[in-house]
Amino acid sequence: MIRKLLRRVFRRAAPATNALPDPAVIPVARHGVRREHISPAANKVCSVLQEAGHKAYVVGGAVRDIIVGQTPKDFDVATSATPEEVRALFRRSRIIGRRFKIVHVMSGPETIEVSTFRAMQDAESTETDEHGRVLRDNVFGSMAEDATRRDFTVNALYYDPTSETIIDYHHGVADLQQKTLRMIGDPRVRYREDPVRMLRAARLGAKLGLSIDPAARAPIREMAELLENVPPARLFDEMLKLLMSGNAVKCLRQLREEGLHHGLLPLLDVILEQPMGERFVWLSLENTDERVRQGKPISPGFLFATLLWHEVLADWDARKAEGEHSQPALFDAMDSVLERQSGKLAITRRIAGDIKEIWALQPRFEKRAGKTPYRLLEQPRYRAGWDFLRLRAQSGELPMELPDWWEAFADAHPESREAMLVPDKAGTAKKRRRRKKPAAAPSDAGQA
Ligand code: ATP
Ligand code: MG
Repeated sequence: MIRKLLRRVFRRAAPATNALPDPAVIPVARHGVRREHISPAANKVCSVLQEAGHKAYVVGGAVRDIIVGQTPKDFDVATSATPEEVRALFRRSRIIGRRFKIVHVMSGPETIEVSTFRAMQDAESTETDEHGRVLRDNVFGSMAEDATRRDFTVNALYYDPTSETIIDYHHGVADLQQKTLRMIGDPRVRYREDPVRMLRAARLGAKLGLSIDPAARAPIREMAELLENVPPARLFDEMLKLLMSGNAVKCLRQLREEGLHHGLLPLLDVILEQPMGERFVWLSLENTDERVRQGKPISPGFLFATLLWHEVLADWDARKAEGEHSQPALFDAMDSVLERQSGKLAITRRIAGDIKEIWALQPRFEKRAGKTPYRLLEQPRYRAGWDFLRLRAQSGELPMELPDWWEAFADAHPESREAMLVPDKAGTAKKRRRRKKPAAAPSDAGQA
């Protein structure tokens, strides 16, 4: 069986298009990826497809991650079978995507994404925008072509669970072992086709501890502006991946090093230039990375709320200085910050709702008298609001005493809560406001 399969692999790989390389077939002793490292569902999908006479491999990020000793998030399979053929072999499966169809195969709790080998983009038949960005590529192709259209050599590894070999067209295994992230083909051409590859270079380099090959690294600075033509929804997805990867701090440093932060998250530039804002953003990213490492849930809403908070503070202060009342000024500031952001990153409506909820809770933590604190504790978003408050205090924006008080208040026996209230708050607030009025440009508590 294994011999038959190996024969098939060799036989089929040989007649690849002239310009395409012959692959190396790398035995398990040299890469160390065993069948047991692959999820049961991915193993099953490959064997069912192979038994039906198709080629099928685990491909892409999963193979790469296992080789460097990381746990893959998910498993993708690439196959010579058409989507319809795949669909027919698995009862729990469905075809998704209209232009380029792929198949989701469900098995137990897992979903395996199965893609048919894709053809390479060639200049004549590929539709691009005026900057050379590829708009469609939806033709099925050979396995060699499928390998060559992938972005980095380390992402073009095809693992066969049956023989435990890796089919490697572009020296990806060697590049991984030498800790190099190398682009397949001419990096300038590949960035022009899809500028998101620049972000992927920064993210994957940081995630895998690889250094970006100079040929792939050099053009990034001059080509970064091509990111402006990428649809905001795609940029947002990629930013989310980056920020929620568990390596956000490393990724962002890498982005800054490559000059990619400019224009990408425009407000981030501003934030990172304010001393207090910068501290707050790094703290929040470290906090997120730590949560990911501990397997705790993280929410995009919370993350973006932290990234944009100092922008909101600045806008809020400006509005208050113009005489707007505190509460409406905050809501206007929130809307205007999200509005400015929306042209660049398509923050979904749901996430924007989460962000606003967290921001809107913040002033409520300052009221520690009467019934208000009891009502705040019952808010469904109380915990997220408190985590946010604590980050603000840790960055030096507020006294630590405030989140500490809330923690104690929340933990206290309901009968002893009454005694903890801070009833003079309203009085001091009034006094503070009166004192501030005469000053020409009052510096607000938020920036003190
Ligand atoms: P991770 O899953 O860790 O975020 P990944 O490399 O697996 O990283 P996916 O978006 O899951 O990223 O993509 C799966 C595979 O598809 C990649 O390994 C790569 O081979 C190919 N790929 C993804 N994006 C591109 C792109 N922009 N250009 C060319 N190939 C790509
Ligand atoms: Mg992946």
